[in-house]
Amino acid sequence: MIFVNKNKAKKPISVTKTLIATAFLALILMPSLTSCKKGSQQATPQAAANTTNSTNEAQAPEENKTKILATFYPLYVMLLNITEGTNTEVSMIAPANTGCLHDYQLTTKDMQAIEKCDILVANGAGMEDFLEKALEAKKDSTIIASQGYNLIEENPHIWVSPSGAIWQVKQIAEGLKKLDPQNASAYEKNATSYAEKIQELSDTMHSELEGLKGKSVITFHEAFPYFSSEFGLNTVAVVEREPGTEPSARELADLVALIKDAKTKGSKVPMLFAEPQYSSSAAEVIANETGIKVQELDPAVTGPFGKDGTDSDTLQTKESYLNAMRKNLEVLKSNLAD
Ligand SMILES: [Zn+2]
Repeated sequence: MIFVNKNKAKKPISVTKTLIATAFLALILMPSLTSCKKGSQQATPQAAANTTNSTNEAQAPEENKTKILATFYPLYVMLLNITEGTNTEVSMIAPANTGCLHDYQLTTKDMQAIEKCDILVANGAGMEDFLEKALEAKKDSTIIASQGYNLIEENPHIWVSPSGAIWQVKQIAEGLKKLDPQNASAYEKNATSYAEKIQELSDTMHSELEGLKGKSVITFHEAFPYFSSEFGLNTVAVVEREPGTEPSARELADLVALIKDAKTKGSKVPMLFAEPQYSSSAAEVIANETGIKVQELDPAVTGPFGKDGTDSDTLQTKESYLNAMRKNLEVLKSNLAD
């Protein structure tokens, strides 16, 4: 593992050398990722504006709806699926294009939305450090989607693996059933049906990606330990970025040197993945210097957002996670031929 990050460079680089040197022993190596760090995009000032979407707007007067507030996009998409056909209003704190919340800062509007909601759904596992006080104040009406999950090194990106997403869907549904019993049977039915959809896609991914087991990957954010673990990928490096910054020239040079070194020693060339949420110029530099190809893996942390609550937008949003995983499957399959 490498963290091209000036705060963390020393220790992880030695780990990376070990990992690259043992790339062929991938199956016995677990990516030793740390918890989600300051690697994401900063929230935009219009953050609190995303409290408008409702899957079921026409069904009941506003005041009777159960107001469910997700902290960010992956949970929002799960909620759209779980609450389908119920008398609820689902919204999220951070805008759909925010990505992870590692550096998110609450606005006054966010705080008002938190105060007004009936149920708050947070990821937990360190994703919402900014919410600590609010979570304490709302603890009786908050669902923590990671609670009880077997975390890898306190990493919060559980949903990025299909099995983790299914687990979180069920965890959220269980919480909703307790906090909003009037809709319990619908939550149960919807969660089961959504979990089945994810499972079906996951089965396809497992069968089509069987040949990728043990392949080495480099990612640009610590979002993939659960995904890599599920599909047997070996993460040899993670370029961890401070918000809005690129790795320094020195950090890039170190990573390039490590890759070149691995290549000259006859190790297999790792796959290099940027994420659609991040600038990939650092990845391009590494690709140009080393000859390895940059591709995109989507941690399904941003996506379309039905701003007007129109059916087509909402439907598209509901499928957002599945669409991201379908794309990931295609990207990874294209590497099977390499
Ligand atoms: Zn993240």
